[in-house]
Amino acid sequence: MAIASVNPSTGLLLRAFESHTGVFVEEALGRAARSAAEWRRVPLSRRAALLTAVAIRLDTERETLARLATLEMGKTLRSARDEVAKCAFGCRYYAAEGELMLATERITAADFSGRIRYEPLGVILAVMPWNFPFWQVFRAAVPALMAGNAMVLKHASNVPQCALAIEQLFREAGAPEGLFQTLLIPASGVAALIADPRIAAVTVTGSEAAGRDIASHAGRVTKKCVLELGGSDPFIVLADADIERAAQTAVTARMLNNGQSCVCAKRFIVDHRVADAFEAAFVSRVRALKVGDPADDTTDIGPLATEQGARDIASQVDRTITSGATLLVGGSRAQRDGWFYEPTVLSNVPLDSAAATEETFGPAAPIFRVSGVDEALVLANATPLGLGSSVWTRDASVAEHCVSSLDVGMVFINALVASDPRIPFGGVKGSGYGREVGVHGLREFVNVKTVRGSVAP
Ligand code: NAP
Repeated sequence: MAIASVNPSTGLLLRAFESHTGVFVEEALGRAARSAAEWRRVPLSRRAALLTAVAIRLDTERETLARLATLEMGKTLRSARDEVAKCAFGCRYYAAEGELMLATERITAADFSGRIRYEPLGVILAVMPWNFPFWQVFRAAVPALMAGNAMVLKHASNVPQCALAIEQLFREAGAPEGLFQTLLIPASGVAALIADPRIAAVTVTGSEAAGRDIASHAGRVTKKCVLELGGSDPFIVLADADIERAAQTAVTARMLNNGQSCVCAKRFIVDHRVADAFEAAFVSRVRALKVGDPADDTTDIGPLATEQGARDIASQVDRTITSGATLLVGGSRAQRDGWFYEPTVLSNVPLDSAAATEETFGPAAPIFRVSGVDEALVLANATPLGLGSSVWTRDASVAEHCVSSLDVGMVFINALVASDPRIPFGGVKGSGYGREVGVHGLREFVNVKTVRGSVAP
């Protein structure tokens, strides 16, 4: 894919970029390696001070950055502003908590004493997607930098301006030269980076295909990788659920970011006793959503980020209807320029249809009716993916049964699945391995160094 900004609201090219040359990449890796060697010796308090300075820059540049995301990938400006604010929150969180998380731990037993140090690994390569063009990068970068690593970013080819803006932001906040750099390179350039001895580890957020490919390259050179891949999150509504609240949250859970989030609710699994009520409440809210210019503060749903994305969701909906599903609302491209798709709800969705078996990355919600919690859990787990899940019930013991039965990395009870710097984020099965954010995310890219024994006084 060419490295270019194309406005998804119009389909018009904004700006095309040449890939960085081999010489540029070589020099950047040299700078990154030198910076990592120095940054690891910088006291934790000074690392935290840099993150605070980055947060201040984010606050100052919030509107500019938000408009860039809206322009390049079509998310609503309202949600883009929230995304930039979340990046600042993440910086401040690690600035406040990082020192404690990285403090040396002492282990004392009857026959020995020792300690565990959390040391950086070096230069981390981040391969990132376009859907949260700032937050995806910050949630990988901030804990890694706090831990004393440097980072080079290969961002998605359709958000080069966001990618360059992030590098500039770190520079303006006073980051040492080479600590955070953006490389404008195609996906085909990633394997060579992973093989380079100056790259210590890699973190990737993206599709299963990209994750597998990157992990295989990392495996060949024994380098650590964290994989945050696709999701097919179940949204389970049980018979005793608060249907109004569930339906209200379901709209956000499916439609946020124009339906393009790994943790969007992608399969609505509803007890048949409340299915009619849930469908009615859900559909009436979906009908009320306003599709339009993402820069307009009254818009709920903007365009898909890419033309291919719009084609994919249209094809998935069409194939699901051909398989026998009932269309309740939407079901077609919006009648306007750009890559818009009408918010769509499907019911009576066959279990072997596209919307049941493929990750749907757009504003389309398939509803499945089940006989009760046991069938709901079987269906929820009947996917090769295992990222998030949302369970709606008033019964605490049923909720706990669901928590322990779901093959996923995250369970949210009567709540929207969302990432938060304070809690670990990640999945199991085809959704990948490793965690981002929280203390667990911070410790992914550290050398857990055991020290035992001492020099006799
Ligand atoms: P994608 O095609 O995998 O792209 C993601 C990044 O990987 C881009 O920078 C892309 O570069 C690069 N890439 C793609 N194939 C590669 C390869 N073989 N080797 C090296 N790099 C490669 O993903 P997408 O379609 O843009 O994003 C949607 C997917 O990401 C969905 O499956 C979604 O669920 C998942 N996602 C997961 C999370 C999570 O936290 N688990 C979060 C967000 C999204 P180019 O742009 O240059 O191709």
